[in-house]
Amino acid sequence: MPNTDYQNIIQQLYEQIQSEENFGEVATYIPELSKVNPDYFGIHLTTIDKREFGAGDHLTKFSIQSISKVLSLSIAYELLGDAIWERVDVEPSGTAFNSLLQLESDYGIPRNPFINAGAMVICDMLLSHFKHPDQELLQYIHDITGNSDIQYNPLLAASEKKIGYRNFALCYYLKSFDNIENRPEDVLDFYFKMCSLEMTCQELSHVFLFLADENFLNQHHKPVITLSKAKRINAIMQTCGFYDESGEFSFRVGLPGKSGVGGGIIALHPDKYCIAVWSPKLNAKGNSYKGMKFLEMFTTSVESSIF
Ligand code: GLU
Repeated sequence: MPNTDYQNIIQQLYEQIQSEENFGEVATYIPELSKVNPDYFGIHLTTIDKREFGAGDHLTKFSIQSISKVLSLSIAYELLGDAIWERVDVEPSGTAFNSLLQLESDYGIPRNPFINAGAMVICDMLLSHFKHPDQELLQYIHDITGNSDIQYNPLLAASEKKIGYRNFALCYYLKSFDNIENRPEDVLDFYFKMCSLEMTCQELSHVFLFLADENFLNQHHKPVITLSKAKRINAIMQTCGFYDESGEFSFRVGLPGKSGVGGGIIALHPDKYCIAVWSPKLNAKGNSYKGMKFLEMFTTSVESSIF
């Protein structure tokens, strides 16, 4: 019988992990990210019947970075349907999130929508469809959560643009294969802005509830996404959500999820809950050290995962 005393379990694991050594490094390649206090640690869980459980710094905003790629994918998939899979694949890449390696042999088709190249192709689709995709994305989030306090951080976006040589290379490379329709500069501006979204763990666990709850309706009482599309997005999170550590996350935690280099992780249990964890120090594969540890201990303690 799964143990659903979430508050006690979260609090106990939080205290245990806080008392242990915090390994890893804060992402420093984006100057603005390197300023974050490495000791932050927060957890927030929201159940599909809207019960809330939190610990630590769960109400502090942070940069969600790549976690945002799930939202842009959801919008593009709902808008354009299966046509999106002609331009981006659904296979784990087994390489780093910003790798150029496979693009040459794959003729400019990124392995999945969560590596940088794939997320740029999705941004390009939204840019072709909307005049202001950044505003549409924000509106989408506000409609899901009913919370207009969620915003971009322009300082962070500018800071990443300044040093984003590899992302520039990726986007121009994709363009050379005709897999970018718009000006690469415009795609990158939207991409950097999207990655600069800031949320608390509580807000993150609210935003992603639509992928856990098949009856989820937004503020306009409309479904955010069809059930079959939610299933597929969860499947891509399960197989590709953690860079080249996706197999390890699946093995240790057993839930679909997505991480970001800001140290955030979201994971969800379909029909049960969405949980967000944040701790800025990253392991060698770029995933939050404490975040991975917490989620492994959490699904072990509650004795429930999707497997
Ligand atoms: N904006 C980051 C980059 O493109 C996102 C990386 C991540 O969170 O995985 O490098």
